[in-house]
Amino acid sequence: MTGKSKQILKTVFGYDDFRPLQSEVIANVLRKNDTLVIMPTGGGKSLCFQIPALIFSGLTIVVSPLISLMKDQVEQLVQIGVPATVLNSSLTLEQYRRNVEKVKQGVIRLLYMAPEALLRPNMLAMLSSLEVDCLSIDEAHCISEWGHDFRPEYRRLVTVRDRFSNAVCIALTATATPRVRQDIKSSLGFEDSDEFVGSSNRKNLFIQVTSKHNPFEQTVKLIKGFPGQSGIIYCFSRRQVDDLFEALKSKGFSVRPYHAGLSERNRIRNQDLFIKDDVQIMVATIAFGMGIDKPNVRFVVHYDLPKNIESYYQEIGRAGRDGLPAHCLLLFSYGDIQKTRYFINKKEEHEQRVANIHLNALLGFIETERCRRIPLLDYFGEKYSREDCGMCDNCLSGEKGLEDITIVAQKFLSCAKRTEERFGAGHIIDVLRGSEAKKVLRFGHQHLSTYGVGRDFSKRQWFHLSRQFIRRGLLAQDMEFGSLKLTDKAWKVLRREEKVLGRMEEEVVDRTSEQDDHKDYDRDLFELLRKERKRLADKSKVPPYVIFSDKTLIEMATFFPQSKQSMLDIHGVGAVKNDKYGTVFLDIIQEYCKIHQIEEHTKLTRGKPLGTTASIGKKRHVVIGEAFNSGRSVSEIMDDFSIKRDTFSSHLFRYLQEGNYLIKSDELLALSTVSSEQKNHILDKFEDLGTEFLKPVFDSLGGEIDYAELKIIRLYYLSKKGVT
Ligand code: ADP
Ligand code: ZN
Repeated sequence: MTGKSKQILKTVFGYDDFRPLQSEVIANVLRKNDTLVIMPTGGGKSLCFQIPALIFSGLTIVVSPLISLMKDQVEQLVQIGVPATVLNSSLTLEQYRRNVEKVKQGVIRLLYMAPEALLRPNMLAMLSSLEVDCLSIDEAHCISEWGHDFRPEYRRLVTVRDRFSNAVCIALTATATPRVRQDIKSSLGFEDSDEFVGSSNRKNLFIQVTSKHNPFEQTVKLIKGFPGQSGIIYCFSRRQVDDLFEALKSKGFSVRPYHAGLSERNRIRNQDLFIKDDVQIMVATIAFGMGIDKPNVRFVVHYDLPKNIESYYQEIGRAGRDGLPAHCLLLFSYGDIQKTRYFINKKEEHEQRVANIHLNALLGFIETERCRRIPLLDYFGEKYSREDCGMCDNCLSGEKGLEDITIVAQKFLSCAKRTEERFGAGHIIDVLRGSEAKKVLRFGHQHLSTYGVGRDFSKRQWFHLSRQFIRRGLLAQDMEFGSLKLTDKAWKVLRREEKVLGRMEEEVVDRTSEQDDHKDYDRDLFELLRKERKRLADKSKVPPYVIFSDKTLIEMATFFPQSKQSMLDIHGVGAVKNDKYGTVFLDIIQEYCKIHQIEEHTKLTRGKPLGTTASIGKKRHVVIGEAFNSGRSVSEIMDDFSIKRDTFSSHLFRYLQEGNYLIKSDELLALSTVSSEQKNHILDKFEDLGTEFLKPVFDSLGGEIDYAELKIIRLYYLSKKGVT
């Protein structure tokens, strides 16, 4: 059966490999065992019932609470030639009748419905007369009162099960809390063994938390790193949304606002423009996002503090559903935290307690110096065992480059002490910098010995330092007033018994070109393809991603397929889409390649030899590749070009991809830290899974070997292969 599933995966959906858990889940459903699937957003839950639906002879009913999502999925299925339809209140009577007719005739494989539609007696009667093989319950947390979105009509689905005795039931959700899971299982009468829980970790999200000193500039800088690509900016208040929207608009960005204060018409229009790629950026309150399935959101900015970890994770979860890297930036200030505390203090006692627990968990995440995935996943009851995800700010900056900042720490601490531990960072910094602010003079702090001893640093730099002192446990912030108090550790520092390591300057995390596995595609061609996709999408009145995903276009602009046959090798191109759109896109690629004298790059998964291409001038990767081949040592090259190991291997990879060879491939192994046994194991994986993407290999090794390491072994593998 797996063979058949795999074949459908490729020919219908155009994908080469299953994502984690998909094949296990599909096999379980095909054996007609009830199945509960917990996978994070973007994990690929839909395929878990869509593929069985194409294998079963009878009908698969899919219950889903959100009309927009149903419509979206059905459109995507129809595009790839799968007979799917929908019955819900958004249809006209005529459309509804037509769809019912098709179901009765047995031409439909997947029927999407809202729960209340399914529960109607005549609908149940009609469906009971058909062969129903699978009842699929999407967003299954709606069954549970413990979930964040309980829906009574979902609860009643439990009774529907008996009507379809031959149907297997599959329930799916991204909500991972154990209580909700238990509730779903017991409501539906599932066994514990029916549960498949995927990791909540979203590996492709780059998570960054930065202090907010000039949020507008910080945001603009991020946006500029994603020209023309979709992103969401979350703000706390409607007013903030309006202000930021105006500010971005006046800078010429393609942007729209979204919040509950806008008319429904406006909201729907703005959302639609965003989904259809007519508008790049959505500035929104948390009202935005439910029921949005847009896969190519490349960044999410939290302009203000999110409500709690759960909402934060849900909000950043809207980025990168397509599995490509996406950037999540949280801008935080202690001022925002103070504001949140103020609101919390106005609540009644019980609520205050809960809110404080949430806030502290959030602070733990913000202030951590370890991998950010540790506190995040911990919140969902998952232990993140790796210390270095390579996809968060802390992991990228690491402890490298920390300086001894004991002396500045002593200045700050003694100033906090001399002002009697009654003030927050702002006042202490004023005193250190010799300010003549009223407050300083009122308290006579200009007479303190620490007055003016910190003039050599800017206010911003002092704030940056003070946050580190708090994080490193030298100062404790009073929950209510925000004043800073010295800890035991601080006394040790003042007595010179302990050193303080930290950063004088704020770290600027720049991961452009570092992590992005897909950076080597031809941007100009991509733009042409994107324009064509948009044209086709508008013509058929669907969002562009329904035609082809970004990843598909990126692969086209990486491998430059020249025939319909090689088009089929591209991610997301199945037989039907190839027939429908293959030629249109091929024409564009062929013409582009002719003008720029580019040849097809063979996709490496199939074990074909490395493709060659016309050289695109002496780019950096070529210079580096040649330097390597000329016999220079790796460390020399890295020094000369001031690049790190990871960038070095990315350059060599690109060099190889362009049809070059590497000599002395054994030297590459010096860059690697894996054992020779591990190395052989990884080499086998590359042999099996191909080399053009690392994720499948990474996944198949259970995430144990990090990407940087895999990149090196991949180079080694390819260069060995190239020589023989
Ligand atoms: P979820 O419902 O879990 O949020 P989806 O089912 O919408 O996720 O899948 C997210 C995206 O990943 C979709 O664009 C889908 O086509 C894609 N996808 C799913 N499975 C695979 C796979 N095995 N290989 C490549 N892409 C996949
Ligand atoms: Zn990390």
